[in-house]
Amino acid sequence: MDQEVPTNPSQKPCPICSKLFDSGLSGMRTKCDDCAEQIRREEAEKQRADKEELKRQLKAKHKREQRKRDRLLGAEAVKQRRELVRSERQQREDEIVRNTPVHAETHSESFYDPANTDNRRFLQDQSNQFLEQVSSEVNLSDVGSDFEDWVTIVNRLVVGFENKFVQRVYEPAGELISYTVFPDVVGAFLEHRVKFYRLDESSSFLEAYRKLLPILDERYGSNNDKHSDAVKRERERLQV
Ligand SMILES: [Zn+2]
Repeated sequence: MDQEVPTNPSQKPCPICSKLFDSGLSGMRTKCDDCAEQIRREEAEKQRADKEELKRQLKAKHKREQRKRDRLLGAEAVKQRRELVRSERQQREDEIVRNTPVHAETHSESFYDPANTDNRRFLQDQSNQFLEQVSSEVNLSDVGSDFEDWVTIVNRLVVGFENKFVQRVYEPAGELISYTVFPDVVGAFLEHRVKFYRLDESSSFLEAYRKLLPILDERYGSNNDKHSDAVKRERERLQV
């Protein structure tokens, strides 16, 4: 393109298209309007493209992180699945052991085996706490010698059933709960002792007793003896 000849001092040829343009008094403008506009459009387009690229990169990064999280979650799910399988197998084995009769006295004495230290401490802590709680909630002025025994028996039964300290035994045949209690022969005594010591006045005792009665009834209700009858009467009385 032919260079035009400037007609005034502020006119210059555009460095891009060589067209003469007015660079202004201070010489601030460096290109013609058309080229300046073109460059602005290109800049704007470049910025838009840069923004799009950044968005794309962020999206890809997010996807990678998501996939990583999924993989980790997958590993966690696999771990949980394994743990569940292991725990179910253990439960089945425990169930078989619980249902394989052992000699009653032997099982009862195993409460004091070193191998059962954790279980023994757990059960003793539970019954000590329960006894303390119940004692604080009833009038103890005329408490007889077996008050503690029966409060402890109720706790041993509830905690035993809840934590599966249940063992089938022979001589005598039946179940031993928490190593210590035959649950099918307590109903009649409980009915009498609960009234005698007014244990209903203890909300802690009542809560445990209300949990226990349906369990006893469901397991031994068909025995049709004085104990199962007493359990049914107590369920009726307490509406559980
Ligand atoms: Zn130009």
